[in-house]
Amino acid sequence: KRIMEEERRVVLFGKYEMGRLLGKGTFAKVYHAKHIATGESVAIKIINKDHVMKRHGMMDQIKREISVMRLVRHPNIVELKEVMATKTKIFFVMEFVRGGELFAKVVRGKLKEDAARRYFQQLISAVDFCHSRGVSHRDLKPENLLVDENGDLKVSDFGLSALPEQLLQDGLLHTQCGTPAYVAPEVLRKKGYDGAKADIWSCGVVLYVLLAGYLPFQDENLMNMYRKIYKAEFDFPPWFSPEARRLVSKLLVVDPDRRISIPAIMRTPWFRKSFRSPVAAI
Ligand code: ADP
Ligand code: MG
Repeated sequence: KRIMEEERRVVLFGKYEMGRLLGKGTFAKVYHAKHIATGESVAIKIINKDHVMKRHGMMDQIKREISVMRLVRHPNIVELKEVMATKTKIFFVMEFVRGGELFAKVVRGKLKEDAARRYFQQLISAVDFCHSRGVSHRDLKPENLLVDENGDLKVSDFGLSALPEQLLQDGLLHTQCGTPAYVAPEVLRKKGYDGAKADIWSCGVVLYVLLAGYLPFQDENLMNMYRKIYKAEFDFPPWFSPEARRLVSKLLVVDPDRRISIPAIMRTPWFRKSFRSPVAAI
């Protein structure tokens, strides 16, 4: 019986023993796996090439993003360990992040201001690091923010989400998440946009969600939600501190050129409170 069970183990490239499904994203499924030689836990993201090949230029984009992801090694970014491929699939071997999605914590209710601040500081540190290397994320939302066993935030999906703009336009990136709630107005407008500035907007929505426990722009009707985003129309719940309000108001600015920059975010009193800069791994 034991032999049969061993035969049933799925081993990838003779190297990784596949485990349970961790999550599903827009293009991919992510599984837990064990590096057989060292026993180390990893997460393996499997992308079906069929989905990808149908999109013109997407394969090139993925190759480019793989080299980019190797560039962005930071304590608050999920590490890409290696990439493998077969004729039909691409496998991203990543560090395994134990604590799951930040999303799960928000679903349970709003966070205390100090807890939200710490996640936001780590998020901005990661985003700043990427922007300094010319990488924008373009899909920042609590589902793509993971938390490790120490309670530290890890941005996942960096680079991979920086797909060609036509993908955003044909709605592919939204088919599964179903909501543009985190997307900057200039991205919704489908004109050219600056990915770094759009990321800052999304960080603003994330901060709001962490503090409020719900989305700033929400409507059962998608068009109404768009309208609210275009106008940055949102209210503050009464428990937001004045400093938090001030920062969120500077992040959720419709005009990308007037939106607060990362250095300016880092100078605000709300951000600076007990901020410890993570040391970059390179
Ligand atoms: P997609 O690019 O298709 O959205 P993601 O990279 O966001 O896929 O992964 C989908 C889900 O899998 C995540 O929301 C998360 O729950 C889980 N996941 C992804 N990467 C890891 C990881 N390194 N460790 C643990 N869970 C992960
Ligand atoms: Mg994702």
